[in-house]
Amino acid sequence: MKGDKMLKGKTAVVTGGSRGIGRAVTLGAAKNGANVAIVYSGDDAAAADVKNLAIEMGVKAEAYKCNVSDFEQARETCNRITTEFKAVDILVNNAGIARDKLLMMMSETDFDDVIDVNLKGAFNFIKHLSRAIIKSSAGRIINISSVSGLMGNAGQANYAAAKSGLIGLTKTVAKEFAGKKITCNAIAPGFIETDMTAGLPQSVRDHAGTAIPLKRMGTPDEVANAAIFLASDLASYITGEVLKVDGGLYI
Ligand code: NAP
Repeated sequence: MKGDKMLKGKTAVVTGGSRGIGRAVTLGAAKNGANVAIVYSGDDAAAADVKNLAIEMGVKAEAYKCNVSDFEQARETCNRITTEFKAVDILVNNAGIARDKLLMMMSETDFDDVIDVNLKGAFNFIKHLSRAIIKSSAGRIINISSVSGLMGNAGQANYAAAKSGLIGLTKTVAKEFAGKKITCNAIAPGFIETDMTAGLPQSVRDHAGTAIPLKRMGTPDEVANAAIFLASDLASYITGEVLKVDGGLYI
């Protein structure tokens, strides 16, 4: 398949598509011939940058400012995307935040905010784009979970709960939508070099270096490659799966 554009003519919606892993997924999809709708919440410049890079690759690209956790904003945004792109084949639910604290110190807001963006945001976009994706001949939904959702992680009760929840959501959507030829899979990244991990204390980064069998953090492109694979025809018989991209952290 080298040289082929695996997603040629498809349209991909990537939430949190402006930075980090989502940016890499957006640009990977564009490089593979997909039109891309970038959903972001605050950083206009980052979204415009990704949009322009995608357009330079010869595809249609548009950026949409939307808080994925807001049901009505998500509905409006999904309606705009469906109208402007005419079709949606691929949805990558990637938008996410972390508010790490030990449970004893975690506030109700810390908990609710993370569940609302990381879990409810995915529900909102699946719900509002499902009619459009059903019309695709090979619909794909990919949810970006985390190894924290598989292993649990001290300091991440909110985040791990949301990421485990995404796995339950993924498996349920896989079953509900299989009859419509839509696959739904999750990716569980380990430690990936992005803004989200840039602020981690050096002790945590050092620990990651020793705990990860491949002895390094991953790159956004390494996660994006898994997303492009799952979005492509190569993954037509894979659904309800959780693909770890973690350098062996959770073996
Ligand atoms: P990041 O660099 O912090 O980027 C987060 C992206 O999500 C940005 O584009 C941001 O847009 C967007 N976003 C945040 N809140 C949003 C909201 N309410 N509505 C819409 N968009 C929102 O994060 P990342 O490290 O790339 O992580 C991406 C995903 O991978 C997350 O779900 C994260 O939990 C997961 N993950 C990351 C790692 C890691 O090690 N980095 C590991 C496992 C899983 P704005 O800038 O406009 O707010």
